Amino acid sequence: MKHVVEEFHRLGLKPRPGQVEAAQILATSMLEAATRERAVFIAPPGFGKTPTVLVALRVSRTLPATWRVRSYMLAHHISEQCAMCELRPEILLGREKVCPLYQRYKHDIHEWCRAARHRCSLFRARTCPYFFFNVEADVFIAHYNRAQLLPTPVTIWDEAHNLLAAREYCLSMEDVTNALAEMEDPALRETLDESFFRTSSTTIEIGADLKEWLYREYLRVLLSRDKPTVLGKLYRLVKHDFIYFEEGRFCGACISLPRRGLLVSATLPMAHQIAAAVLEIPWQRKLRAFIASHLTTRFDEFDDKMAERAKAFLLKLHKKYERILVFATQRVAKRVASIATLYEPESVPADWRGVLLLHTRGRFGEGVDIRADVVVVLGAPYLPPGPNEKLNRAMEQIGIRNASEITMLNTTLQCVGRATRTPKDDPLIILADYRFKI
Ligand code: SF4
Repeated sequence: MKHVVEEFHRLGLKPRPGQVEAAQILATSMLEAATRERAVFIAPPGFGKTPTVLVALRVSRTLPATWRVRSYMLAHHISEQCAMCELRPEILLGREKVCPLYQRYKHDIHEWCRAARHRCSLFRARTCPYFFFNVEADVFIAHYNRAQLLPTPVTIWDEAHNLLAAREYCLSMEDVTNALAEMEDPALRETLDESFFRTSSTTIEIGADLKEWLYREYLRVLLSRDKPTVLGKLYRLVKHDFIYFEEGRFCGACISLPRRGLLVSATLPMAHQIAAAVLEIPWQRKLRAFIASHLTTRFDEFDDKMAERAKAFLLKLHKKYERILVFATQRVAKRVASIATLYEPESVPADWRGVLLLHTRGRFGEGVDIRADVVVVLGAPYLPPGPNEKLNRAMEQIGIRNASEITMLNTTLQCVGRATRTPKDDPLIILADYRFKI
């Protein structure tokens, strides 16, 4: 403990309550565990998780380290915190930020670069900023999606609740049709057309061989032209673990949990299910939520009558409160959107009033602050039944039970968290689905 206290003082940092004890546990056991398996560090907002981990990294000499983030804004914040802790940070940007060819190939740049970087003059001259970066750093800060990294003893996964959220990627039917039209191989086009458009199932099955066939065709088309493809979008869709049809769109979903590393978050439900070692600092503030058990958005029960019941419930709330923030999946949101004052707007005005309806797992489902008098999670946000079962089976294979519950609760906490970011925020929280009781 003495080392940790001395380190805080030497760095000129005044430890907040609990930080010394947490840094001590991280330094003596958790970081070591994180080099072999998953370990979890949960602490409430305002605890000072980042300096706590950085001091622990210094004291235990577990350096250099890789620090994974979900946004470049957070990368800069971590970089500043590293400097405060006298650690040399290096932010590793993605191709879309540093590659001069990005403007030409847009999101196809990743596959183009993987397949053809030997053609790239910057790569040949070893001046490409993506591959050739400063390796003399203590902490390499990189986006979750960045593939090219240096191996380091430990990886910190910041805002790790994002790892438990199913990542979804959706294409319109038109996009899929256009992607098929770009193919030069008629047999592949025919096979995929059957898989996407001539099936009665809402779950789309694309086997490994077919994915490989599509990948080869995508590369052939991409390398033979000088502009972005639609085929790339289809390839990125089929790369997901589960593909399904919902509300006129084809969607892919997947969850990819790292095998090892320190997962850091303010909220990570059922952490003991996913990690061998857990350090949890309890929240001082307990939020109270009410369950509206007369409602559900369960697939086989959410019909017109239930949608009307949900709308009536929201209108009743609106009579009493000024700002009702509602989160619902796209399937549900479309059915109740007629009573929304704002539905998934480009941005949320600071002075909004009425019913603000947003998509769970949408662009406002994480990382933004929205002041509200009431926050309603309209329906337990499970994936559709087919992908949900597949998710459970896939996660059971890596020893994680109740994966669908974990991801559903994680999404719910993130939605509620939009309106409860500061100690002053005290909205009425309503979980509108009887399944929240289970
Ligand atoms: S090697 Fe070339 S194409 Fe690949 S990231 Fe670097 S500059 Fe871009």
